[in-house]
Amino acid sequence: VSSVEATQAHLDRIAEVDGGIHAFLHINTSEALTVAREVDQKRAAGEELHHLAGVPIAVKDMIVTVGQPTTAGSKILEGWHSPYDATVVQKLRAAGMPILGKTNLDEFAMGSSTEHSAYGPTRNPWDLERIPGGSGGGSAAAVAAFEAPLALGTDTGGSIRQPGAVTGTVGVKPTYGGVSRYGAIALASSLDQIGPVSRTVLDAALLHEVIGGHDPKDSTSLTDPCTGLVDAARQGALGDLTGVKLGVIKELGGEGYQAGVEARFQESLELFRSAGAEIVEVSCPSFSYALAAYYLILPSEASSNLAKFDGVRFGLRALPEDGPLTIERVMGATRAAGFGPEVKRRIILGVYALSAGYYDAYYGSAQKVRTLIQRDFDAAFSQADVLVSPTAPTTAFKFGEKTADPLAMYLNDVATIPANLAGVPGMSLPNGLADEDGLPSGIQLLAPARQDVRLYRVGAALE
Ligand code: GLN
Repeated sequence: VSSVEATQAHLDRIAEVDGGIHAFLHINTSEALTVAREVDQKRAAGEELHHLAGVPIAVKDMIVTVGQPTTAGSKILEGWHSPYDATVVQKLRAAGMPILGKTNLDEFAMGSSTEHSAYGPTRNPWDLERIPGGSGGGSAAAVAAFEAPLALGTDTGGSIRQPGAVTGTVGVKPTYGGVSRYGAIALASSLDQIGPVSRTVLDAALLHEVIGGHDPKDSTSLTDPCTGLVDAARQGALGDLTGVKLGVIKELGGEGYQAGVEARFQESLELFRSAGAEIVEVSCPSFSYALAAYYLILPSEASSNLAKFDGVRFGLRALPEDGPLTIERVMGATRAAGFGPEVKRRIILGVYALSAGYYDAYYGSAQKVRTLIQRDFDAAFSQADVLVSPTAPTTAFKFGEKTADPLAMYLNDVATIPANLAGVPGMSLPNGLADEDGLPSGIQLLAPARQDVRLYRVGAALE
């Protein structure tokens, strides 16, 4: 197939099903087709092209793009256009990948269900009455529904991996610093990573190699080149894991995990064993504090990162109904109108945790927990090459089930958050359907920092 045919087929599919799914906030028809046409012309002229040239892709609307709006799922950025491209977007363009459009998300990537988007939720293609996970529900649903073969997500506490689990797609959070964050709207800068969403491990590896590598525009970017992932996926696909040690994390499983999710997880451990892997149990006792620490660190960083949305520099400007037009009052009116309830909740939480009287008690303690979690990982990785757990405790839940109870919503991230706190890479793989509801479940693989290759080798062996 030509690039134009492939791109048009996905645009047709979007036109056919996205009315029901709502994975996209913006569809980029003419530009995508123009890029596809250019690729076809270059190919006809015998030019050497990147192996993903002409393969269309969807981009989470948390990542800035020239020529298309970027909203972060928020009213405060409605109609805003970035004057520059994120580094990852520049890399997609350089590879000749047509960008199909921007995908839906929880507002500023805060959430686990995409119900917090200011533009309405995305529906799970497996069951339109259920959530597609979050915050990157749009990217996961687009890939699951064959609206896009690949997508980009951002993962601060699981927003690539948990949507992957509940939609039956592959999602990878690279090592912190492995993919440039330049042009990803910052949620919590010490946790955020951009990563691939795909239907196979090899596809994720191909995309990861396009977007990864050093970027001088991101001061936390690693200098390591991003190579070996595709080779690792091809090696893993041979199905031999002899000599590989997998560590089952004792604290992530059992009570609180849906029986069907657990059952599929145990079956996958058997498959790993029959592929030659050795399975050991590892203990990460501090993981039980990860959720609490995360929900202090994330709001603290978010309260600082979101301070730039002041009604002056970006997007929406709302004016107070009466009284003087001071900067504070314009800022207040803009934020009151532009931010949704979950964003306001987290800003208030973060400002409180950072306030002088409480800083040590909350933020300081959370940072100490972070160190303990890193130590747990170090100890676990001295016993195993890759750690495994279910990605999320349950399959996709119904709309509205958890919106009234923020804590119930936060519990979805219990297994994904430790990786962000420690900066280690993680992958979620489709892991079969749970018996109770016939919905996808996910298995998570975790590797030491800079060892993303291990995820691809082990992940491809399970496929
Ligand atoms: N669900 C998590 C949260 O609400 C994860 C967010 C993310 O990874 N962007 O914070």
